[in-house]
Amino acid sequence: MSSEPIRSAGRSDAARRVLREVFGFEQFRGEQAGVIDTVIDGGNALVLMPTGGGKSLCYQVPALVRDGTALIVSPLIALMHDQVEALKNLGVRAEVLNSSLAPDERMRVLRDLHDGALDLLYVAPEGLMQPHMLDRLASVPIALLAIDEAHCVSQWGHDFRPEYLALGALAERFPGVPRIALTATADLRTRDEIERALFADGCRRFTASFDRPNIHYQVAPRTNARRQLVDFIGREHAGDAGIVYCLSRRRCEQVAGWLVEEGLDALPYHAGLEPEARRRAQDRFIREEGVIVVATIAFGMGIDKPDVRFVAHLDLPRSIEAYYQETGRAGRDGLPSNAWMVYGLDDVYRLRQMLAESELSDDRQRIERQRLEALLGYCEQVGCRRPPLLGYFGEAHPGDCGHCDNCQSPPKLGDATEPARMALSCVYRTGQRFGAGHVIDVLVGRRTERVERLGHDRLSTFGIGEEHARGYWQALLRQLLAGGLLATDPDGHGGLRLDPSARALLRGELRWKMREPARVPKTGRARTSSRSGAPVAPEHAPVFDQLRALRLELARAEGVPPYVVFHDATLAAMAEARPQTLAALGDLHGVGRHKLDKYGEKFLERLQALNASAG
Ligand code: ADP
Ligand code: ZN
Repeated sequence: MSSEPIRSAGRSDAARRVLREVFGFEQFRGEQAGVIDTVIDGGNALVLMPTGGGKSLCYQVPALVRDGTALIVSPLIALMHDQVEALKNLGVRAEVLNSSLAPDERMRVLRDLHDGALDLLYVAPEGLMQPHMLDRLASVPIALLAIDEAHCVSQWGHDFRPEYLALGALAERFPGVPRIALTATADLRTRDEIERALFADGCRRFTASFDRPNIHYQVAPRTNARRQLVDFIGREHAGDAGIVYCLSRRRCEQVAGWLVEEGLDALPYHAGLEPEARRRAQDRFIREEGVIVVATIAFGMGIDKPDVRFVAHLDLPRSIEAYYQETGRAGRDGLPSNAWMVYGLDDVYRLRQMLAESELSDDRQRIERQRLEALLGYCEQVGCRRPPLLGYFGEAHPGDCGHCDNCQSPPKLGDATEPARMALSCVYRTGQRFGAGHVIDVLVGRRTERVERLGHDRLSTFGIGEEHARGYWQALLRQLLAGGLLATDPDGHGGLRLDPSARALLRGELRWKMREPARVPKTGRARTSSRSGAPVAPEHAPVFDQLRALRLELARAEGVPPYVVFHDATLAAMAEARPQTLAALGDLHGVGRHKLDKYGEKFLERLQALNASAG
């Protein structure tokens, strides 16, 4: 690919030409141009971009402009194969070299490497750092070294891979070869750690905004998980691919069962399944349309599927980082997508308990508890969701995004000073040992066996809150917890106790406002398209569906995922523009030279037929 005409055109022109001709895109996005110029010029770059931000192009374009083969280090075999499949379909000479290859395949790839017939070679870190591999590479012109998922070097982060630490030696091994490290991890500490581990010789840092404008955020209290989830999918995402995250394996199985009973194409995915079953689930999710995976956190990293239309959380994740990473898997292609979550106080107890039972040091447990509290604060947030979300990663956002639940239907705040005092004193009178369930029993005056056994029916707070329903008290306790006036036991049994800051409220020096508990769930997609799940306006939906069917046919015939043929965004552009010539088709977003040659006629035929039947 690094042919003469491209080189002689000057570096920025060359990069732009590759972008247009190979990838079919008109412009670089955000930081891409700066990163690409830096690397083409031989400089090092650390690239921090959210999922879907367009990290791959940052090394794929320089790989095609610079002489030699680009080495791409990636932690996951499945991810490498997906990327290579997509690159080949763009006419790029890319291969994978890892332990999954048969010996003769391996020989062929190595021969191509030595013949200078590869633009990109994807390798696992442990494979690259083996002495015989390094020796071999010493005699091959290397265009650049890219380290994907670079947060794997961080021992602080959650994806630590010891093999990644050895990559620090690449600077010495490949002097003069530019290195680029990329991650979607927003954690400031992790960023510094990556820089220290991989760039002893310095680098330029490129930080994109971590905002994902196409994602709509919504959080609601969990009242009836099954009904809430089924309603949400039915209303917004009929026929769409999505991920539902749950905390436990058992729960995954149960929830997948619910969805199947509703006639949806859903599969469980968790560490308790046989590897074969896991592989099958992942494969169906990637290669077919509209599959829903119900998963523990084991699922997701290394899933590059661009058209995941929703990510639903039925249980609270551990932290804002985890939440942001998981929700970030929605809408990589930039089309409207939903991040939807329901949660309850019992999630907080369960996570606390898991933490208390973990092997983590006391210090680390304390930090993890703070992270959980920050997430709870986000959930109970009254204003726009984006400022607290992005603020957590050190990025300012002015709010009023217009594309989250709170912006669209601002929650009503009512004075709840009296009920808040009742709740706090009830926690106090019952001995600061019990969870929300028991505290509420006492508040509403329910004579359970435990209430009677403990004599809590004789307390002054027994029944003082009977005018409100349980749901009201649950919401209030959650908000007091999120506001820091209540805390849960560090031992993880879920007992509520007063924070010293609760005193001012008890003494009447502070008032407490509470968001009204009943909220009508509503998301952004329903407004823009009446048939939700369609990335196009309703009038184009029939054509879009036809194009989608053709895409699936072609993808099946080739044994590749549908998005490797064309992304949804490209099909949407076709459905809207309905080009009637190859040249017009070639001008659309995502239609490069190679794909135009390969698929142009077929799509044109379908579009012409549709036009004829419409006229
Ligand atoms: P990341 O690796 O950061 O999650 P990708 O590299 O997978 O993101 O890119 C996300 C999506 O954006 C892909 O569908 C990709 O084709 C598209 N994309 C990236 N850069 C551009 C661009 N300059 N113009 C149009 N689409 C782009
Ligand atoms: Zn908002």
